[in-house]
Amino acid sequence: MRLVLLLSLLPAVVEASRFHAVALPPSGPGYQVPPTWADRGLRWGTPELVGLLQRAARRLRAWDPGATLYVGDLSLRDGSATRWHRSHRRGVDADLLLFAAGADGRQKPAPTRMQRYARSDRSLDVRRNWLLTKALVSDVSTQVRVIFLASWIKRRVLDDARQRGEDKKLLAKAARLVTQPSDSGPHDDHLHVRVVAR
Ligand SMILES: [Zn+2]
Repeated sequence: MRLVLLLSLLPAVVEASRFHAVALPPSGPGYQVPPTWADRGLRWGTPELVGLLQRAARRLRAWDPGATLYVGDLSLRDGSATRWHRSHRRGVDADLLLFAAGADGRQKPAPTRMQRYARSDRSLDVRRNWLLTKALVSDVSTQVRVIFLASWIKRRVLDDARQRGEDKKLLAKAARLVTQPSDSGPHDDHLHVRVVAR
């Protein structure tokens, strides 16, 4: 009986360290991990996720030299549970801070904690958040499974991109992948990307 109990616990132990973990450096071309999140140490992801973030940041910077992507939590190296997340255990999840701009259009400095955006919040930088979404869903090699984002932010971002004449196929793909989760917070303070596990 005890052996059975022990065996039934094994999968959970194995699961905690099952992904091939690579670290996202604390900063690189077009991105940085602000101190609040760097200190937590959730900087590990699958090569697909880490590669995606690095490529997306680089493309964003090329499209908009004034844009720096602020990256939040990925996973711990061994996939252990943390007090901050229910997911972020398999190296496929990353929290990205939403772009915010001042009245002059310049990006706001990295915050020390995530900031929630109300529906009418003018500091939400709709255009840069679209560029981020675009970079994620149009990546050459990593497939995005889902992007969690509050529905009103999704609407503002996609409406703006449509008005700017963005490619229809890309817009349709983004509309399919971006969704407000039903089983956790509405994601009005960050964009959560989950990639397909290999
Ligand atoms: Zn999240």
